Amino acid sequence: MAASTAIIEHWVGGKRTSEPDCRTSPVFDPATGAERGRVSLASAAEVAAAVRTADLAFETWSQASLSTRSKTLFAFRELVNSHLDELAELITDEHGKVLSDARGEVQRGLEVVEFACGIPQLLKGDYSDQVSTGIDSFSFREPLGVVAGITPFNFPVMVPMWMHPVAIACGNTFVLKPSERDPSASMLVAELWQRAGLPDGVFNVVHGDKEAVDALLESPDVAAVSFVGSTPVARYIHERATATGKRVQALGGAKNHAIVLPDADLDFASDHLVAAAFGSAGERCMAISATIAVGAAGDALVRAVTDKAQAVKVGPGRDAASEMGPVITQASMDRIESLIGSGAEQGARLAVDGRGLRVEGHPDGFFVGPTVLDEVTVDMDVYREEIFGPVLSVLRVDTVEDAIAMVNANPYGNGTAIFTSSGDAARRFQRGVKVGMIGINVPIPVPMAYYSFGGWKDSLFGDKHVHGPEGISFYTRAKVVTSRWPERSGGSDASYHFPTAK
Ligand code: NAD
Repeated sequence: MAASTAIIEHWVGGKRTSEPDCRTSPVFDPATGAERGRVSLASAAEVAAAVRTADLAFETWSQASLSTRSKTLFAFRELVNSHLDELAELITDEHGKVLSDARGEVQRGLEVVEFACGIPQLLKGDYSDQVSTGIDSFSFREPLGVVAGITPFNFPVMVPMWMHPVAIACGNTFVLKPSERDPSASMLVAELWQRAGLPDGVFNVVHGDKEAVDALLESPDVAAVSFVGSTPVARYIHERATATGKRVQALGGAKNHAIVLPDADLDFASDHLVAAAFGSAGERCMAISATIAVGAAGDALVRAVTDKAQAVKVGPGRDAASEMGPVITQASMDRIESLIGSGAEQGARLAVDGRGLRVEGHPDGFFVGPTVLDEVTVDMDVYREEIFGPVLSVLRVDTVEDAIAMVNANPYGNGTAIFTSSGDAARRFQRGVKVGMIGINVPIPVPMAYYSFGGWKDSLFGDKHVHGPEGISFYTRAKVVTSRWPERSGGSDASYHFPTAK
């Protein structure tokens, strides 16, 4: 390894750390294909040290007043806001998405911080006076302890922010294991927490791969795990972490369908479909990757989508003229191109072919152009696999019922949308689909921070969605107190039958 190679270390107990001679992994700038640095991969011993640090910090942070926690969250909110551009640049340089998109990602993460600023209100318990004569009942919620967040490459700031602001506001301490492919933004986030006055050890970052993840899953001192990533890993995390007695929410992959009815405004629908399919090079868990054209909508829709896909400006994320950047790695680019080829071989019509795209001045960047495959059927690999690239498949059916049945037959259930001018069709759709997040003339229906985000079926293992009310519930557990202050002279009404209200 060259002496000048930048090493991205862990953040534990308020300091950068890493073992000498540790394993490392390369971090690329996807727009140039060049290695930007190397990230330390934590050993099981380093993970254990981070968990110990977080466990110690829990003793004091769990006792911090609601007022102290809320003030720290407000200070963190100000710092994230004032460093929004810096965070967005770190995202663009390691993920590849265009800067305006990276700014949007930070903004949506910031909204979760803003939600968590209201923690005194969010943690208010219930109180019932005189549930029985002389007896009152009340409930409150307590933090769990050390909680871990394991996150994917595609939203290196927003997805961790679905978790840590809420967990920390609830009084937990946090160990984040971000994606090893774009690890740097998490380090700036850690510094901002420290500058906001969060005690050292409450927020920690360990970088790594399966070894670090397994160490978190096996640790008896980790109380809960929040995971976001692909379905096979989500399933594994849920199985392992529940087997070791943890609370788990594991969000997986997706195949998000947009249904387009003949009564839709096709110009509006095709604009939104192209943005939802090719924004962030299709590397969004809520990207639209399959469009179901109903009846007469088909030909006109494909013509409009084809024209608009060909007009997307692909280039480096730092160039303000670019609308779509590269994909994350060479391996990802090769996989996406091979899946496009399989679609053509299996009978789809390649309306727009994004393979082999060359971007001027960036010959080694990981670029795949927008791709549209028409006449796709449900047995093809392009439909069965989550491509996670800029590929839109068009399937055709005769009725809205057929379209809803197709959405429901898919193993994923993250997001879905309908484009129509019929309230009746939209209502049948919203009630009929087995999907967690639904858009009506809205292609990427990501809920606001004060609602909860989560899919159904193979898109989520565990029963709680992230942030919003379900996030508060996930990161806390309830106590219910039944209390009586007997008068000294009142005697006792103790009896051997089960207590009932009087
Ligand atoms: P990934 O599953 O490869 O990695 C996610 C995390 O798991 C990373 O931190 C990684 O280091 C770790 N990991 C990877 N392989 C592992 C293994 N074998 N054992 C233990 N840990 C492992 O996902 P990715 O490629 O980083 O992200 C893309 C995926 O994430 C897509 O499938 C996308 O749909 C999904 N995603 C889902 C949501 C959602 O809300 N449902 C949001 C964003 C991304």
